[in-house]
Amino acid sequence: MELKGLGVSEGVGIGKSVVIENEEVDVSKYEADPAGEKDRLTNAAESLMAALEKKTEEAAGEQAEILGSHVEILKDPALMTEMVKLIENENCNSEYAAGVIFDQYIQMFSLSGDELLELRASDLKDIKNNLLITLSGKELMDISQLPAGSILVAEELTTSIAAGINPENISAIVTKVGGQTSHMSIIARSIGIPAVVGISTQQIENDVPMIVDGSQGTVLLNPTKECIKEYQEKQNVLEQSRLALEKYRGVKSVTLDNQEIELCANIGLELDIEYAVKADAEGVGLFRTEFLYMNRNSAPSEEEQFKVYKKAAAAFGDEPVIIRTLDVGGDKEIPYMELEKEENPFLGWRAIRYCLDKQGIFITQLRAILRASAFGAVKIMIPMISAISEIKKVKELIQSVKSELAKENVEFDNEIPVGIMVETPAAAVLADQFAKEVDFFSIGTNDLTQYIMAVDRGNKKVADLYSTYNPAVMRLIYHVAQSAEANGIMCGVCGESAADPLLIKFLIGSGIKELSMSGVKILQAREIVRNSSYQELKEKVKEHLDQLQEVEDAVNFLNSL
Ligand code: PEP
Ligand code: MG
Repeated sequence: MELKGLGVSEGVGIGKSVVIENEEVDVSKYEADPAGEKDRLTNAAESLMAALEKKTEEAAGEQAEILGSHVEILKDPALMTEMVKLIENENCNSEYAAGVIFDQYIQMFSLSGDELLELRASDLKDIKNNLLITLSGKELMDISQLPAGSILVAEELTTSIAAGINPENISAIVTKVGGQTSHMSIIARSIGIPAVVGISTQQIENDVPMIVDGSQGTVLLNPTKECIKEYQEKQNVLEQSRLALEKYRGVKSVTLDNQEIELCANIGLELDIEYAVKADAEGVGLFRTEFLYMNRNSAPSEEEQFKVYKKAAAAFGDEPVIIRTLDVGGDKEIPYMELEKEENPFLGWRAIRYCLDKQGIFITQLRAILRASAFGAVKIMIPMISAISEIKKVKELIQSVKSELAKENVEFDNEIPVGIMVETPAAAVLADQFAKEVDFFSIGTNDLTQYIMAVDRGNKKVADLYSTYNPAVMRLIYHVAQSAEANGIMCGVCGESAADPLLIKFLIGSGIKELSMSGVKILQAREIVRNSSYQELKEKVKEHLDQLQEVEDAVNFLNSL
């Protein structure tokens, strides 16, 4: 049987299921002697702290950091004082007090809409649970004793369990609850254990042979012998290629003939900054700031945004950090922004069109970006530009925000580069004109493909037509890159195609000087760059591009590069 979910950590895991039930401890209230309860609570907290400290010492990296933060939370006197106060005021049991006090904080953090605080809420849930288990006199779950080849299956894997995972005995993780940024996924990626979330785990029993494919997001139950063999081979191939790519870590991204191609990361959340650095990115080519506005009830303040942008800028020092201004609308809905339902949201009030109308939100963001520019090589990038007049208005606004900051004696980079995403056919066709107005381009091939081909990506009936390999799309990419080169400005690509092994050589041959992608793809892209000859690719692209008619022709051509 095959179950489909979302892969959050790549790789293939083969083994047997170990179902982890989250233990529920009764927190109902009963009358108790406050002095005795205070002792019980203090002893339980101390013994939990000791257990976590021991685990922290045994762990490394991300895992040690998370466990250490749990110890710090437990040490926080505020939590303990509040629980004790409740026990004294109400003559109640410790379980009840722990339940009430922890839940207050958990609720507060869960509703904050801030991703980091939400993670904090899940930490608190985890600590509360462990404290309650310790109070009940039971042992905490110890997965280090599980046999090799165990695949953890849980509705939700608590952080403290995830933090104890060791690849020596755990081959994969499958959960119902979780996403790309939950602690479990972060840990799984950092230690290279395949993980899939979004699986209805109640269907999986203990001790069932299974295969987890974290790249495809699939879980196979009771696989046949042939199937296991097939996946073992896949496992070997993946491991070999991962190891082979390690030699590209820490080396320059230059072609055989010394042309530098910057390989940057696409990020969207504060957490991604650290991944991008670890992934060996040479900067940030696309910071999708709309994520900072999502899952909350109001727009993030200037200060909140500034802190995140500054963190990204500081993390990359002299390397560029391209911050894209709010790209709301289209498929990115943000409820409090009151975007009316539109017949064709992708053709509607989106991104810069919205920002130029809602200048308050836009100016707040520009202020935050400009302030962060004092701390690194920050660049501003404007999405969905389709007219020269739009970029002129944006530049005027940036100028006025600069004057405002200068009056306030706030530091910023007065020479901050301003660029545009080239993702509408209008901007692509007029690239030679736009190149005279801005400092750089970044081609958004995801949108550019859909707009050139007039294909809604979500519509399966026409999905065949959605291809960046379509010669129409490739020709425009070439035109944009050449227009940038002719005008002496940098042109990058930050859509999915930047990481597509089939397209990278074509992009280099077109004159693209920066590729921005998900961090995990960087080493693979660097391998391609370092094995390419810029001059040769330039000549081949120039010679053959105009003859391509169909996607098939293009694919053959791309394969020949
Ligand atoms: C794009 O359109 O290619 C792009 C990078 O932007 P987004 O996917 O965020 O629309
Ligand atoms: Mg786009």
